[in-house]
Amino acid sequence: MSAATLEQLREQVRGQVIAPNDEGYDEARAVYNAMIDRRPAVVVRPANVGDVMSAVRFAHENGVDLAIRGGGHSVPGFGTCDDGVVIDLSSMRGVRVDPAARTARAEGGATLGDLNAATYAFGLATTGGIISTTGISGLTLGGGIGYLARGFGLSIDNLISADVVTADGSFVTASEREHADLFWALRGGGGNFGVVTSLEFQLHPVKDIYGGPMFFELSDAGDVLRWYRDFIADAPEAFGGFPAFQIAPPLPFIPEDRHGDTFLAFVACWAGPLDEGESVLKPLHDVAPVAAEHVGPMPYPALNGAFDALVPPGLQHYWKANFVTELTDEIIDAHLKHGPEVPAVNSTMHIYPINGACHRVASDATAFTHREANFATVIAGMWPDPADNDANTKWVRDYYEATAPLSEEAGYINFMAGDDQDRIRANYGSNYDRLVTVKRQYDPDNLFHLNQNIAP
Ligand SMILES: Cc1cc2nc3c(=O)[nH]c(=O)nc-3n(C[C@H](O)[C@H](O)[C@H](O)COP(=O)(O)OP(=O)(O)OC[C@H]3O[C@@H](n4cnc5c(N)ncnc54)[C@H](O)[C@@H]3O)c2cc1C
Repeated sequence: MSAATLEQLREQVRGQVIAPNDEGYDEARAVYNAMIDRRPAVVVRPANVGDVMSAVRFAHENGVDLAIRGGGHSVPGFGTCDDGVVIDLSSMRGVRVDPAARTARAEGGATLGDLNAATYAFGLATTGGIISTTGISGLTLGGGIGYLARGFGLSIDNLISADVVTADGSFVTASEREHADLFWALRGGGGNFGVVTSLEFQLHPVKDIYGGPMFFELSDAGDVLRWYRDFIADAPEAFGGFPAFQIAPPLPFIPEDRHGDTFLAFVACWAGPLDEGESVLKPLHDVAPVAAEHVGPMPYPALNGAFDALVPPGLQHYWKANFVTELTDEIIDAHLKHGPEVPAVNSTMHIYPINGACHRVASDATAFTHREANFATVIAGMWPDPADNDANTKWVRDYYEATAPLSEEAGYINFMAGDDQDRIRANYGSNYDRLVTVKRQYDPDNLFHLNQNIAP
């Protein structure tokens, strides 16, 4: 990109415009997954929506790639590109809570931690993910699975409206009342339709929760997984949580001589009355003795940030995922074979429950179609040293090959790896054709193609 062309962009943008010769370029081009090493022509950190409009028009007019970055967590690295424009929304993270209406509007670069901290002050929360540094935009546009999903639905089920800059640089607000087709597509269709500059959410009265992580011996893993399958089918909807295969990190509540051992962990979140938490978790305690636990009342944002240190930016990432309708004995056996082989303390496998309120939304009511699934499984390979890439990707692939044939063909788009592009049709499922229609209307030239792409 010529200096003159860049100069035009700098004149139009109030926020930061960072080109390869500018200070901070290497930090600005980095995304969360350290396997991704791309060199954009320019990174724009907008100060406001007007800057986003300018940057979108600039990319369109110059015919270059455009990548959108919210929290930067995309495992395939969709938040960056070679030689094109990156719009990095980390400069727009404000959150405004309306406590009377029980709503919050978060700017497009806000993280879950930003949203939760702002709403906690009012004793309110909505469904988000399990790590506080994940971007609220990328997470929500794919669906949004987290501790509160059984009670309140996916993040998209709580979305009231979104401000969007579309491919021609114009600004629209999408909701049930305005641009309803776009609003439908945004709720599960990923970053295909424009740059979301803010999201308005419905909030719910959740302040402190009862829960935390529990570690069970591997010899009890089968019993815990089978208990989970049966319990979660009709557990009270205020109960969220998931089992995981996890190497014990060096945390004070885990006996020192067990640090580095592999366990079947269970992370529980009871968002109902605090004084009921202990009795709700008793059946799980009765399954098998716990080797270590850190369970009790805590602020919801504390649980949401509890595992951040396990997944700092800069790890290598390789993930695979499937939806699961029936957690059969056969699939549990496959987990029991591969889960205990988890090779790194950062790596894990989670089985998230997505029944309850998630099932009360019709599969064509939003772009997220897989409402029949009871679980979203993710095998998340994360490790620090590139020298270990082969061993870790092999663990993920072997695990996936054993479990995928026993699962739904599709998986959650936000858990897809870079080599999952051939699964896009299955992932969008029965809503794919309607998504193409909306794509043709809002982005006929496929400017927004660095994502789980719906070709117009
Ligand atoms: C450690 C970790 C934990 C996770 N935990 C969960 C979890 O608990 N639940 C869950 O549902 N998912 C979870 N995810 C997956 C997560 O939802 C996806 O990685 C998601 O894409 C992250 O969004 P982001 O904004 O941080 O990512 P980015 O890399 O910034 O964005 C990814 C893509 O989303 C789109 N996008 C992002 N922001 C915008 C915007 N403002 N406008 C338009 N498009 C945009 C773009 O296509 C972009 O390329 C996790 C991921 C990681 C790495």
